[in-house]
Amino acid sequence: MSTGKIGVTTENIFPVIKKFLYSDHEIFLRELVSNAVDASQKVRTLAAFGDFKGEVGDLRVTVTLDKEAGTLTVSDHGIGMDAEDIDKYINQIAFSGAEDFLAKYKDNANSIIGHFGLGFYSAFMVSKKVVINSLSYKEGAEAVRWECDGSPEYSLSKGDRTERGTDIILYIDDDSKEFLEQQRIDTLLKKYCRFLPIPVISGKEKEWKDGAMVDTDRDNVINALEPQWMKRPADLTDDDYRKFYHELYPGQDDPLFWIHLNVDYPFNLTGILYFPKIKNNFEVSKNRIQLYCNQVFVTDSVEGVVPEFMMLMQGVIDSPDIPLNVSRSYLQSDTAVKKISTYITKKVSSRLEELYKEDRKAFEEKWPDIRIFIEYGMLTDEKFCDAAMKFCLLEDTEHKFFTLDEYKTLVEPAQTDKDGTIVYLYATDPVAQYNYIKAANDKGYNVLLMDGQLDSHFVGLLEHKLDKTRLVRVDSDVVEHLIKKDDTPAVDLTPTQRNILTTLFNSQTPEIDKAMFMVSFEAMSPTAQPIVITQNEYMRRMKDMAALQPGMNFYGEMPDSYTLVVNTSNPLIEKIKDAAAGALADSITPLEKTVDDDNARIEAIRAEAKDAKPSDEAQKQLDELQAAVAEARSKQEAIIKDYAEKQPVVKQLIDLALLGNGLLRGKDLSAFIERSVSLINL
Ligand code: ADP
Repeated sequence: MSTGKIGVTTENIFPVIKKFLYSDHEIFLRELVSNAVDASQKVRTLAAFGDFKGEVGDLRVTVTLDKEAGTLTVSDHGIGMDAEDIDKYINQIAFSGAEDFLAKYKDNANSIIGHFGLGFYSAFMVSKKVVINSLSYKEGAEAVRWECDGSPEYSLSKGDRTERGTDIILYIDDDSKEFLEQQRIDTLLKKYCRFLPIPVISGKEKEWKDGAMVDTDRDNVINALEPQWMKRPADLTDDDYRKFYHELYPGQDDPLFWIHLNVDYPFNLTGILYFPKIKNNFEVSKNRIQLYCNQVFVTDSVEGVVPEFMMLMQGVIDSPDIPLNVSRSYLQSDTAVKKISTYITKKVSSRLEELYKEDRKAFEEKWPDIRIFIEYGMLTDEKFCDAAMKFCLLEDTEHKFFTLDEYKTLVEPAQTDKDGTIVYLYATDPVAQYNYIKAANDKGYNVLLMDGQLDSHFVGLLEHKLDKTRLVRVDSDVVEHLIKKDDTPAVDLTPTQRNILTTLFNSQTPEIDKAMFMVSFEAMSPTAQPIVITQNEYMRRMKDMAALQPGMNFYGEMPDSYTLVVNTSNPLIEKIKDAAAGALADSITPLEKTVDDDNARIEAIRAEAKDAKPSDEAQKQLDELQAAVAEARSKQEAIIKDYAEKQPVVKQLIDLALLGNGLLRGKDLSAFIERSVSLINL
């Protein structure tokens, strides 16, 4: 027996490994099983090249637990190691500046392990002692036994293995007893080793017997599934793809479609990406793309490796070229990763374009499900966005689909405003906004449907991408003003009429929590509704965005601001106007005159004082005049309000408009019903 010191420059690396690699302890199993699988595959390779002439035999890797002895053993029938191999591959760890490195990457276990080929040594994260029992495939090789208790000292002696291959025996540490539980190990093996190319066995298959789960005599094979992404697309049927999807993500609907990735230059990458049918956000965060490195599962936190929008996709990406074992910040700046990301983006967009070109009808049918991917992609990825401009569809409220170019051609003639801007109208809720959509359609305008989850952002993107184009929600203004043309008629009201009508309608606007109403006048068509409620496009967009983004609460807290647009050309409004003017002119006109006269005097005094401070005497006069104006105004207001109270028709018209917008509820709604009944005159 010989003893020696492991070639590490740091005095004692193992406590360091243990301490720093804490959060990722479980990956030891992945490392050991992959080593065993590698060693097994090497037998095949050697045999294929005639360098190994013996019996290849049953190449399976077994993971065995012995709770009593406190051991976990990974055994293979691979090429094995002799004393020289152990010295070369195990004892001499290429390690320099270990401490610096550990300090730098202490938060990332993968980085240390992968970077320094410490795969085998990860065993010490969970073990107090590790034994290697091995017999090399080489002719005349002697079995060896290597033992190390976690200090840099090891011992090497004659081993007792009689069959080619290796056992790695871990004496599990007291604080890692969980790794002696069959269930825990099976779960880990399923996670990391499901697609390894050599059978991995862990315990026995179980079955129900007499009310309990008992072992059968069949081996429990962890990796019975085939890694379909390794096959050629020509060898797979649609059913194979679907079946594989359901194996990866049990309990999901069929995927919409998939993309088989297969590159070998300038980097190696295979995989299958699926477009799932997204039902809710929870599923999106649970069922993510899985990254593999030569069929070994590495992670499903793929941020930074795949383009952001692909976070909505599912499937498998396998690449030995993604430096998966390094830290995230490094990953994101890595050029190989960038290339991969660009490649995937291109592949996804060209596949979508292909689907669109091959069968437009089928593409339109799938659109409601795939638009979320496309819109998300366009919003988060410039390059994808440019590519997607060709196949991105717009849907109108009649469920017709248009490409961006087609839509422009369709609406340009009727929907270009007087400044040459094309105005796209859209609705977010075709039922609630029915009246507005109808009004727009009646005027010959088309209305887009923008009711998707991302549409409030997407509207902004379209505006940014499309030349001289503005998007306006169909209820953000009266139809005459949605698209401003030169022929918009002016409102014909005398100052007194305007004054009376403003207070008349203002005094009857409802008080609704988190809503604000303003009154304005427009000369719409005489057949248009007497009152139309609109919602300011800008404020509404801000609020919509705030709802989607944390940190914009300011806008979220603001009340919704609505405008009650009174149609001065509507005969009912004309009647109200004339009746009010007739009833109120006598009492209002003298008060208006007072206000005008007093205001004129205020102006005159100010003009006299020019920019200087007025004299005490002049200031006193000003104060008195201002008070008089205020008093006359409030008198006017009181008179009009008093009048308004007795005009149920005004309130009725406002309520009808509110009702049309789903804004009339509760107490106000029941008052409206009562009033309606009392207004019915038989
Ligand atoms: P890596 O696998 O990254 O090279 P490891 O520390 O995991 O680093 O392993 C070092 C080397 O030890 C391997 O490259 C291999 O030559 C040898 N080795 C490890 N495990 C086995 C095994 N089960 N059978 C044969 N050789 C092995």
